[in-house]
Amino acid sequence: MHEISLVASLLEIMRDEMGKYSAGTRLSSVIVRCGALSNALPEALSTAFTVMTQDTEFAGVDLEIEEDALRLACGACGEEFTPEDFPVSSLAPCPRCGEELAHRVLAGRELYVRRLTII
Ligand SMILES: [Zn+2]
Repeated sequence: MHEISLVASLLEIMRDEMGKYSAGTRLSSVIVRCGALSNALPEALSTAFTVMTQDTEFAGVDLEIEEDALRLACGACGEEFTPEDFPVSSLAPCPRCGEELAHRVLAGRELYVRRLTII
């Protein structure tokens, strides 16, 4: 499962980050931003996170997942838009000129840690 490796790298980032703080500080929550094209299912991420933090120093840390909409730039006219029926249809007609292919992805691929709350 793809999400397991994502959570594994997330835990690494959290460990790195927490290494900068003195003992006694505790991570209370982590916010992750997840693009529509990152292939990560928020529910699966959440489940993997809960399972993988059990019995670790991160047990009970709150994971919040923010989903990023897909944002495209038309390959023909440059119009920027968010396809309405994504991911139901893989074709994304441009609202201005109707071009369906060769769009550039502006946003939606990323998966990154947006904030760690440390108490
Ligand atoms: Zn267009």
